[in-house]
Amino acid sequence: MQQDAAPPPVRDWDPEIDDTLVCRAVRDETHDVKTFVFAPKRPCLFRFKPGQFITLELPIGGETIHRSYTVSSSAARPHRLSITVKRVPGGPVSNWLHDTLKPGDTIRAVGPLGEFTPGESETPRKFLFLSGGSGITPLMSMTRTFDDLGEDHDIVFVHAARTPADIVFRRELDALTGPGRRLRVAHVCEGIGTEAHWAGFTGRLSLPMLGLIAPDFKEREVYVCGPGPFMKAVRAFLEEGGFDMSRYHQESFNFEELTAELAAGEPPTPSAPAQAAAPTDGFRVEFAKSGRVFACPPEMAVADAASAADIRVPTSCSRGMCGTCKTKLISGTVEMNHTGGIRKREIDQGLILLCCSHPTSDLVIER
Ligand SMILES: Cc1cc2nc3c(=O)[nH]c(=O)nc-3n(C[C@H](O)[C@H](O)[C@H](O)COP(=O)(O)OP(=O)(O)OC[C@H]3O[C@@H](n4cnc5c(N)ncnc54)[C@H](O)[C@@H]3O)c2cc1C
Repeated sequence: MQQDAAPPPVRDWDPEIDDTLVCRAVRDETHDVKTFVFAPKRPCLFRFKPGQFITLELPIGGETIHRSYTVSSSAARPHRLSITVKRVPGGPVSNWLHDTLKPGDTIRAVGPLGEFTPGESETPRKFLFLSGGSGITPLMSMTRTFDDLGEDHDIVFVHAARTPADIVFRRELDALTGPGRRLRVAHVCEGIGTEAHWAGFTGRLSLPMLGLIAPDFKEREVYVCGPGPFMKAVRAFLEEGGFDMSRYHQESFNFEELTAELAAGEPPTPSAPAQAAAPTDGFRVEFAKSGRVFACPPEMAVADAASAADIRVPTSCSRGMCGTCKTKLISGTVEMNHTGGIRKREIDQGLILLCCSHPTSDLVIER
């Protein structure tokens, strides 16, 4: 009897080869938040760690714009990946996604990237997740992943929103707190909006409020993501409450904040200050399209030297991670210390990341 051959194993997404995602579904989460579900165009499994993000490369208004979005779906379901995007008034990309992207469309993406992830552990752990606004996405991915994998961690998930109508994933989170689950969810809203019977907390998250929600917060590992002022406040009251900050982890959706924090906590790196005086010595760097010319010494990143010469270069992470400043190098050589924001084949095609590239000769750059 003839037996059917086993189907070939499905390959994993390879960021060196794969860069195209097909939109499969668009879902409304709240009045200004949508989830976009994608599948890799080439059939493969998109493996990532919960909390990681992708950077989209979108053709908008005749140029390529880069923006990063956390994967909000479960890492245990690699056939699909979702991002959940809040509309930012006046923001080019969030509005383009909300208004334009529809099922069947393809987009390009780099990733997965990022280190804001709880890692793997067989042993149950005690977590405190603190999220504000769209900062819920990495913590939701962690929660969904733990739930899918049957990892019975003791999680207190606190989500802060403007009003109950702004709470993202509200019903799903509440459903995940069912019998036999060790997840506890507390919603904290600044105001109750149009919700007549609000049973959650009202006001801003504070140390006394946290004491009521999670009296054992000092025993937990804390993961925080939200707007800058939210994370600043959380950090301050945790420190005030005697929390061991070595167990504090945070993700910023604003790479500038992240970079400022890193700069504050670490000795300055050669590519550090963007506001430095424009160097007069160094290699000659020419931006071919704009005709701008400036000097860049080898210890300075090209983006920093451009910025010092008052030339605006779109950058985000300043760490060679997000890919926002990817540009074609027409001639010359650089030393580039990136952290995943560019693929090998792109480097082979002459692309560089300006935020982490230091000249080793005069340069002509397509910009
Ligand atoms: C690692 C990382 C992960 C991210 N994950 C997500 C995610 O899961 N979901 C999501 O919606 N966004 C996420 N962002 C933010 C996202 O990259 C964009 O910045 C956001 O969608 C706005 O893009 P835009 O082009 O519309 O507006 P932009 O031109 O980028 O921003 C316009 C203005 O709004 C501010 N702004 C940007 N984002 C927000 C925000 N979320 N809330 C309030 N103000 C904001 C900016 O500082 C700027 O002043 C993430 C960012 C990073 C760096």
